[in-house]
Amino acid sequence: MDTDHLADRLRRVVGRENVLDRDVDLQVYEYDAGVDMAYPRLVCFPTSTRQVSDVVKLLHKQQIPFVARGAGTNLSGGTVCKDAVIIEMSRMNRILEIDYPNMRAVVEPGLVNLHLVNTVAKDGYLYAPDPASQKVSTLGGNIGENSGGPHCLKYGVTTNHVLGLEVVLPNGQVIEVGGKALDTPGYDLTGLIVGSEGTFGIVTKITVRLIRQPEAIKTMLAIFNSLQDAADSVSAIIAAGILPATLELLDKAFIHAIEESLKCGYPLDAEAVLLIELDGIRDGLDRLAGHVTDLCKEHNVREVRVAKSDEEREHLWAGRRGAFGSLARMAPNFLTLDGTVPRTKLPEVLAKVVEIAKRHGLKVANCLHAGDGNLHPCLLYDERDDGAKKATRIAGFEILQACADAGGTLSGEHGIGIEKQNAMPFVFTKSDLDAMRRVKDVFDPAGLCNAEKIFPTEEASAHGE
Ligand SMILES: Cc1cc2nc3c(=O)[nH]c(=O)nc-3n(C[C@H](O)[C@H](O)[C@H](O)COP(=O)(O)OP(=O)(O)OC[C@H]3O[C@@H](n4cnc5c(N)ncnc54)[C@H](O)[C@@H]3O)c2cc1C
Repeated sequence: MDTDHLADRLRRVVGRENVLDRDVDLQVYEYDAGVDMAYPRLVCFPTSTRQVSDVVKLLHKQQIPFVARGAGTNLSGGTVCKDAVIIEMSRMNRILEIDYPNMRAVVEPGLVNLHLVNTVAKDGYLYAPDPASQKVSTLGGNIGENSGGPHCLKYGVTTNHVLGLEVVLPNGQVIEVGGKALDTPGYDLTGLIVGSEGTFGIVTKITVRLIRQPEAIKTMLAIFNSLQDAADSVSAIIAAGILPATLELLDKAFIHAIEESLKCGYPLDAEAVLLIELDGIRDGLDRLAGHVTDLCKEHNVREVRVAKSDEEREHLWAGRRGAFGSLARMAPNFLTLDGTVPRTKLPEVLAKVVEIAKRHGLKVANCLHAGDGNLHPCLLYDERDDGAKKATRIAGFEILQACADAGGTLSGEHGIGIEKQNAMPFVFTKSDLDAMRRVKDVFDPAGLCNAEKIFPTEEASAHGE
């Protein structure tokens, strides 16, 4: 079917105004927040499950590839699909039900994470997964990538808070998995679909768990003259049996980028800061904060600042939340890695990251969900410089290999997408990958749904060139 004819057929399903086919519009959808780019065939905006199903049935019949897209903030090329129809979910963004007695909410996938958080916060509830992109990223995208965030150390990642899904399968059939009740019998398909990067179908309805907001919160900024001391403090805090809500580490390069753009009072002469947040019942929180401070002192902390008001707390958080955006001060482009290692290996792997970047002549800024052992080294480059671009890709793969060698893995939360598919053999055997491929084939035998993601491409070399 030619593209004009296809656009016509899609318009009949979703309405005239809900299909984009002009070059100028499609260009906006050839990239996401990762580094890869590819031109899509068309973009359509369904507004109901029925429309999603009818669109997918049409595409399935015509054997045309398609991909679901939320806000396009993923960092792995997860929504970049050459010649595919992009099924953009942002117009399915309603909160369908809030059920406080059972602590559940039912929402559409295009709902922005922070809209749900702010809605339930007014009544003292919390939807816990909080990717730093939560101002714009959607629940559907969070499910696609099984997103985490600063508070996921204590509260768990998206999969721990999603209880049920309505999904349009790649042949257009609509299924429901899981639900409001716990422990639905049969296979845990909800768990399987969360984190499947949009390769098993299109999520059209989501049931999530709500929790009560903590009674009290204490936010601290621990300032270090050495990255190693900061990383060692992370291990010491967890080893002492303390589970902070967040343990975020920012290195000197990030501190400078943040201060130049946001001015949050992070000290420019420090090598690293730890943003530590404790929460829970009010009684005992001061004592816990004292214990954490003592542990940091054992690792040569220079100073521990405690936020004395909500305003001061917000000020400290503004730096962490705006960290990635602030890198624009340092370079036009950056590649964010997302490897995860056992916590005690953080100092060793961080040293390796610095060594790899230096050897390739690249600047690197490190931000870590340190409590989870999840590193975000950002390699800075200018995409107009082909040499730097190539060096960045190679250095990125070397960093992933270093994480794998340390007993870690390739992605804590950003997904594999296109960007890391050729690193999959670093952590999986051929048999492991074959088992995963067979699962993909069950859902999508025609291979149309977010095709050519996750699995290594045959012609790829070890370093993905
Ligand atoms: C500045 C910045 C900070 C970030 N911080 C974090 C962080 O702290 N933690 C974190 O985990 N991530 C973070 N990310 C990455 C990204 O924001 C998350 O992966 C987010 O969940 C993506 O949501 P999205 O709506 O943009 O999804 P998209 O990028 O549009 O899609 C992501 C994946 O989900 C699939 N998908 C989307 N909607 C559906 C649907 N309805 N059904 C099935 N599949 C679907 C897509 O096909 C794709 O594979 C950050 C990104 C940026 C740019």
